[in-house]
Amino acid sequence: MKCPSCKGRTEVLDSRESSYGVIRKRHCLKCDARFTTVEGVALDVNISMRQINRTKNDLERLQESIDSMKAVLDGLENRRKA
Ligand SMILES: [Zn+2]
Repeated sequence: MKCPSCKGRTEVLDSRESSYGVIRKRHCLKCDARFTTVEGVALDVNISMRQINRTKNDLERLQESIDSMKAVLDGLENRRKA
């Protein structure tokens, strides 16, 4: 990690775990600046078109089964009324 103000080399003074990642206090060896960094995992947003299409197909199939369930329920309701 380079210093944000002078791009010099830095050293870690202190690091601790937190709920949103590892917090490190750093110190610049060149300009003496002190700053804090948070280290965490980035979300993988690299979703392929194949995954998108598969999800769309899953949702369409889910919609179809909901529609057929509705039809069954409507049929039951109509039979109860009759
Ligand atoms: Zn610096």
